[in-house]
Amino acid sequence: MTDSSSAAAVSLSRTPSLYVVATPLGNLQDITLRALGVLRAVDVIAAEDTRHSQRLLDACGIRTRLFALHQHNEQAAAGQLIERLAAGENVALITDAGTPAVSDPGARAVARVRAAGHPVVPVPGPCAAVAALSVAGFAEGGFRFVGFLPPKSAARRAALAGLRDDPSVLVFYEAPHRVAACVADLAAELGGERRLLVARELTKLHEEIACMPLADAEAWFAADPNRERGEFVLVVDGAPARDGLDGEAERVLGLLLAELPVKTAARLAAEITGVAKNALYARALELKGG
Ligand code: SAM
Repeated sequence: MTDSSSAAAVSLSRTPSLYVVATPLGNLQDITLRALGVLRAVDVIAAEDTRHSQRLLDACGIRTRLFALHQHNEQAAAGQLIERLAAGENVALITDAGTPAVSDPGARAVARVRAAGHPVVPVPGPCAAVAALSVAGFAEGGFRFVGFLPPKSAARRAALAGLRDDPSVLVFYEAPHRVAACVADLAAELGGERRLLVARELTKLHEEIACMPLADAEAWFAADPNRERGEFVLVVDGAPARDGLDGEAERVLGLLLAELPVKTAARLAAEITGVAKNALYARALELKGG
């Protein structure tokens, strides 16, 4: 792929800026015209792995210089980046795949650049979490991006226990050597009846998307060793709405409702119990009406 015919002519801001540029997850055609234009127009590109990103730039016919900004040198590299901006250069930030700062380096550098008073401009594009979510068909409401869970099972299960009652669709990243153990823990902690979408090798040759109840997931991976290869996003349906409130929430709401208007009682009960305000408001209306 060369960018001579396809890259949009990009005019950068007059003020030297940091451009945070999303790059493909696997399929090079997913790079945006604007990303090509920005990567070509900036003075220098900070990249998580310069050798990896050089291949992307070569494939796109872009000759901009690269320097390394990864999790082990992020503070020092952020300093260099700020010096370059102060000297009037435009800089882009990219990682190995997808959107920088999403389970990737970048957030600390962005915070330092912003604190130093330089503009930070997003150049959006691929993100594995969003790509998986877009084909799950689960999200009526919100979603919660969890990213990587702890690698050890005990810590992972403790983290999952804290997510058990969350009605949001949950989005996880997982490494291939842990994915089977991870789905077993998901089923044990979140309940086997919830739906799981496995998004494997998105946008690549062996892309596979499968949907199943969590209870079936461990067996699904065991049925074919190839299914544990590659990169994974796991999307899990949110916790089902509970038919009533738990005893503590009922008690607190009842006490507040005896003294306060419905809206105030529901808001305070939500703050005290952590239960969703909407659920408390609906229950408060029932109690007042009945
Ligand atoms: N910044 C990236 C993004 O925007 O999605 C994520 C980087 S994180 C270090 C890498 C993880 O993202 C992988 O372990 C995997 O969970 C997920 N991932 C990245 N590329 C993927 C792909 N092509 N298919 C499925 N998951 C992918």
